[in-house]
Amino acid sequence: MPSLQSVISCLSDYDPTALPVDQANRIIGEVVEPVLGVEQVPIRSALDRVLAEDIVSPIDVPAHDNSAMDGYAFRGEALAAAQTDTVELEVIGTAFAGGAGELAPTAVQAVRIMTGAVMPAGCDTVVPQEFVEALADGARIRFAADCVRTGDNRRLRGEDLARGQAALQAGRVVQPADLGLLASLGVAEVRVRRRLRVAFFSTGDELRSIGEPLDAGCVYDSNRYTLHGMLRRMNVELLDMGVVRDDPDALEAAFRTACETADAVITSGGVSVGEADYTKQIMARLGDVTFWKIAMRPGRPMAFGRINSNGRDALLFGLPGNPVAVMVTFYHFVRAALHRLMGASVPPLPLLRVRSAQAIRKKPGRTEYQRGILARAADGQWEVRITGQQGSGVLRSMSEANCFIVLGHEHDSVRAGDPVEVMLFDGLV
Ligand code: AMP
Ligand code: MG
Repeated sequence: MPSLQSVISCLSDYDPTALPVDQANRIIGEVVEPVLGVEQVPIRSALDRVLAEDIVSPIDVPAHDNSAMDGYAFRGEALAAAQTDTVELEVIGTAFAGGAGELAPTAVQAVRIMTGAVMPAGCDTVVPQEFVEALADGARIRFAADCVRTGDNRRLRGEDLARGQAALQAGRVVQPADLGLLASLGVAEVRVRRRLRVAFFSTGDELRSIGEPLDAGCVYDSNRYTLHGMLRRMNVELLDMGVVRDDPDALEAAFRTACETADAVITSGGVSVGEADYTKQIMARLGDVTFWKIAMRPGRPMAFGRINSNGRDALLFGLPGNPVAVMVTFYHFVRAALHRLMGASVPPLPLLRVRSAQAIRKKPGRTEYQRGILARAADGQWEVRITGQQGSGVLRSMSEANCFIVLGHEHDSVRAGDPVEVMLFDGLV
């Protein structure tokens, strides 16, 4: 992996005390490289894992032309040949799904066919049964010539996937539909990247863990819980190291253990500029770490780099302490970095343009992630409003919100009714 210093030294306008969000993400992207380990797993276990290989279809899916409806299969030429506006055909048998399709009707014959059954030889069209009148003798059917066109209601061999076509690409995070797709190809096992191990802990002498008495001036540690939730959703192995006291020996031991066992280490608290605790000193001592003030709100201070201990190294994200800032910096920096580290290619989340229900004050020169509630307004349009208190310590704002209102670096204040961009929380999982 390239060193942080070498990446940073190539930037002409680098200012660690007012670093734009995009530039921070570019630096992180250049420093992080995927882990190499690969394992072979049964397809069910591949859910939420990262494919390490392209999956090329070994067969045509479907393997035969087949019917998309319950109805009657026939040769489309019968439609053009009809003398009147109805078509009459002789029924010579029934094709069930799973049969090999031995029937071969002539141009004046049809085969009763079930959905998924192989199209009889020479047939290219299916008339759905609801358009068909069975004649009294039971062996003939009649239907209007204009109720189907040649080729209707037939699924073509290979239309889902042709043999030799790439069904899924390396880097894909396997979704439920992909499990089905793999099964439809008869693929039993796939090669996936090994899971990441991510260690995390909270720092700060004011923090108490659940179950401990809340002494005067103390708060319960909530960051480890939001981190747990966000990391679980990314399907990584977790190493929750608890709260680490603001004590140089305890901190150093925690950083070393984390670094020796995990691919990435995430801490919260103690990285503010002017912070008097030891967290920053120890991070800097253990590796190639830089301390940023990012031009964003919430979330300003953040440490990023790589730390080493006894020949092992790990990526380090030192997130701010404020609970909302932890979530915002996780989603907007750590998430993409972990995707890269796990070898996943995940497209950027969409930003949707919707109307702001209210005025929002904003200064150009920083990116803001306001917590928003997107809902349909009385006039039927989608509209977003902010969730009351936007302080970076107000975790309730994240619980109430269903989206970020993303106000870009250059964005000025918003007037009620102006369009703004939102990023839905649903896409973040
Ligand atoms: P810091 O970044 O360490 O200056 O912390 C900023 C604010 O976040 C302070 O009010 C801390 O008490 C609070 N804070 C830090 N870590 C946590 C945590 N793990 N859980 C809840 N609040 C925290
Ligand atoms: Mg602190």
